[in-house]
Amino acid sequence: MKSLLKKLNIQDTNPGASFGVDHWIEDKSGTELVSYNPATGEPIAKVIQATKASYDQVVAASQQAFESWRNLPAPKRGQVVRDLGEAVRELKEPLGELVSLEMGKIRAEGLGEVQEMIDICEFALGLSRQLYGLTMHSERPNHRMYEQWHPLGPVGVITAFNFPIAVWSWNSTLASVCGDTVIWKPSELAPLTAIATQHICNRVMADHGLSAIFSLVIGTGQEVGELMINDPRLPLISFTGSTKVGRHVNQTVAGRFGKTLLELGGNNAIIVAEDANLDLAVRGILFGAVGTAGQRCTSTRRIIAHKSIVDELTQRLVKAYGQVNIGDPLEADTLMGPLVTSAAVEKMEAALQRARADGGQVLTGGKRIDRPGNYVEPTIVRMPKQGDVVKEETFAPVLYILDYEDVDEALRIHNDVPQGLSSAIFTDSMQTVERFLSAGGSDCGIANVNIGTSGAEIGGAFGGEKETGGGRESGSDSWRAYMRRQTNTINWGKELPLAQGIKFGD
Ligand code: NAD
Repeated sequence: MKSLLKKLNIQDTNPGASFGVDHWIEDKSGTELVSYNPATGEPIAKVIQATKASYDQVVAASQQAFESWRNLPAPKRGQVVRDLGEAVRELKEPLGELVSLEMGKIRAEGLGEVQEMIDICEFALGLSRQLYGLTMHSERPNHRMYEQWHPLGPVGVITAFNFPIAVWSWNSTLASVCGDTVIWKPSELAPLTAIATQHICNRVMADHGLSAIFSLVIGTGQEVGELMINDPRLPLISFTGSTKVGRHVNQTVAGRFGKTLLELGGNNAIIVAEDANLDLAVRGILFGAVGTAGQRCTSTRRIIAHKSIVDELTQRLVKAYGQVNIGDPLEADTLMGPLVTSAAVEKMEAALQRARADGGQVLTGGKRIDRPGNYVEPTIVRMPKQGDVVKEETFAPVLYILDYEDVDEALRIHNDVPQGLSSAIFTDSMQTVERFLSAGGSDCGIANVNIGTSGAEIGGAFGGEKETGGGRESGSDSWRAYMRRQTNTINWGKELPLAQGIKFGD
């Protein structure tokens, strides 16, 4: 572990705020935060958290950096992000392993997360030459109308524990090519991954003679998070986390007329139709429900299966669950690591108790595993109906199975939850596919056919509806969230005609 941390510049005790090249603020009055290994419960290293004074220093530096960064041509900004991607590529293995060590996802997924950052850097490089605005035909003679996009300012990025690099990278790479500077508050459960990433950013910024384009402030939501969401110097807060906290963030930032980009909880279902290829369905469900120990916003939490195949599907899933190798996330043959904290284990136990009270039958799993760390068994529960507990997001590997008789009923059950992130259907029927994807079909931001709910690619816009918050990040035209739109009308004639043909004082 020591050599892994050394490669990434992590000390036993780390300062928790940085605003640029070697500007790590060593504020002794900051309180200590310990990062624990969820696989053993043992401490990994400590961080001295940002105080209000160090936070203010970071924001001031970020504001100052914005003044010149916004004037650098976007393709030049893209080159900085390209180099960031290359620097991360060189450290992909240790960085991916640190993700596993700190939050418990298996090594392959930790490396996959770093790969996602490399990919989004490439995407952002291309994007830096494509920040297009539209042109319109003016109704007035000798007039030209068009729109252009300008950066917003320092952007606050608050992230969840479960994607400790990827989510920040979706935001920071796009925001920075758009001309914004970025201040990151990571989850207090994954501060070391953020520190390692910031060290890489610092090196790349130094190579380009830049500072404070990417900054870091570590602290709790109650302290540093609150400072950010109440800070009018941050025109946009991009928040990824639970719906409960996101609701508060939304209301607070709206109160000061700031913008938000919200990526909140999901409660993702897969409909398995009577004509589904069950081999595909079982694989898709297994990865979606057990991968990352059910701690993805897109994890599969509900199966809505046709009555004619529900028993066979369930039997096959129970068998597949029995073969999942649970253990140290850094071991090569492990498929499922621990939950992030023991509080997460307790939440899973409480949800299962409620599911049983609602008539749910636990078909496999359901228990904490008796070993150090926060290990649980992946669990399948057959539910007679979709009660309150099924409508909530339990951030753990719990899969509820429900059945349906016709597509109308399947869609009704599917959409009858407050969240609207990811959804999928397994079917070979063109009609059923189109029905699922039509306006009256899935109400989610993501709707897949014959693949599961998790594992989105960076090229598409990522996000969800309803209590998932409505934000879109990553690909497509998500970049627009990080810029302000300006409509320009230019009169190149010698007259001053008014719009709508109005005559005024003629
Ligand atoms: P969380 O809501 O507990 O914490 C998320 C972040 O919010 C952390 O950085 C935390 O410090 C901060 N925070 C807490 N209180 C705050 C406050 N008052 N003001 C400002 N910030 C505050 O979430 P978590 O447990 O870290 O992550 C799991 C949740 O995130 C799940 O609900 C999951 O679905 C969601 N998530 C959503 C997406 C998505 O893209 N939709 C992606 C990843 C995770």
